[in-house]
Amino acid sequence: MFKNHEFKIVKDAKLADILVINTCGFIDSAKEEAINTILEMAEYKKKRCKYLIVMGCLVQRYKEELQKALPEVDLFIKLEEYDKLWEKIEKYLNTKMEEKMPETKKQEKLKVLPIPNFQEFMQRVITTGKNYAYLKIGEGCSNFCTYCAIPYIRGPFVSRKKEEIIEEAKMLAEKGIKELIIIAQDTTKYGIDLYKKPGLPNLLEEISKINGIEWIRFLYSYPEGISKELIETVKNNKKILPYFDIPIQHISNKLLKKMNRKTSKEEIINLIKEIRKNIPNATLRTSIIVGFPGETNEDFEELMDFIELAKFDNLGAFMYSKEEGTPAASFKNQIHGNTKKSRYNKLMQKQQEIVRKKLEEQIQKQDTVLVEDISFDSKFLIGRTKNQAPDIDGITYIINENNENCINNFVDVKITKVLDYDVQAQIIK
Ligand code: SF4
Repeated sequence: MFKNHEFKIVKDAKLADILVINTCGFIDSAKEEAINTILEMAEYKKKRCKYLIVMGCLVQRYKEELQKALPEVDLFIKLEEYDKLWEKIEKYLNTKMEEKMPETKKQEKLKVLPIPNFQEFMQRVITTGKNYAYLKIGEGCSNFCTYCAIPYIRGPFVSRKKEEIIEEAKMLAEKGIKELIIIAQDTTKYGIDLYKKPGLPNLLEEISKINGIEWIRFLYSYPEGISKELIETVKNNKKILPYFDIPIQHISNKLLKKMNRKTSKEEIINLIKEIRKNIPNATLRTSIIVGFPGETNEDFEELMDFIELAKFDNLGAFMYSKEEGTPAASFKNQIHGNTKKSRYNKLMQKQQEIVRKKLEEQIQKQDTVLVEDISFDSKFLIGRTKNQAPDIDGITYIINENNENCINNFVDVKITKVLDYDVQAQIIK
């Protein structure tokens, strides 16, 4: 939108006259990160920046409070105002004064939020570099996990039309994007609202036919939605990475039920077995919540035993965060912060040992890396293997022997060393 109105997009905040911050607001750590970013960006108003605009989930949830607490911000825009996004920005820029916000009503539950129109997707600015881009296939969530505010912030799950997603993917391929990362709050629900049946396998197949797209990675696949058809599709299509991001949140049946999750411990175990039986080299990632209300020491030990057994390649853990407006916020037996922290530390320590062992097994093995960058001292090229999703997983450092020409290309490497969650490698000549 800015580009279409004769603004130039700059990557360095120092050079911007207008700074726009998109926020996340569904758990404490995300809110904290968003507030810290707003405060950090507000510092630029002392120099060049004239306008600070904040949008996204945090604003959707707390616009009134934010307006009071952060006077540095010139304009807050809620998700439901995105259809008038440019109108609002333009009006503000023209009048150069704080827009009078109407009294916000109590947050309306399950309002279907507008998906930006197709042209906006097609004119998007790619902020993730030359090699990969996120491709959003749906918006919102209808799962109603009891700890999660997302269905109330972003409304029910709405799929984007398949033809539009494919067009956008082709446009990204034409720009040189090699890896597409398919996202939605729950990608396995794709198509159910529009086509009355799960449509992810077919969508992935269609995207894989696009020339130039070499890797397709789909994230946030809820266990109940991973069908035999989806596993078969991944198994038989070389471009669809055998990378399963399955947020399970916990393993105790008692807690899964309290979380309103749709899968049981037994089903999760069977699913992992099924994936590994069909795709022995599959990478498995998960997310876990520790300290959910009512989590006893026994529940936590059950989780630790399972983590030891399942040996996920990648795992993200969160300490339960009490979110107002969600059912779990009023559950009895909330867990003390210190207990949550100590369980979190124990879990992450165990996972680090698992990852280290798994990565050590990779030493001397060959792999393919998408090279994306070079280290500040030029000693290493930096890239990712199929097992490494950007931002959330480790990375691969490749010893640079005048191989700068490999940047933005795929190279074959041999893994030589493990560095905590990352690996070091050498190009195979
Ligand atoms: S699936 Fe559950 S945790 Fe994920 S966005 Fe939906 S309600 Fe939240």
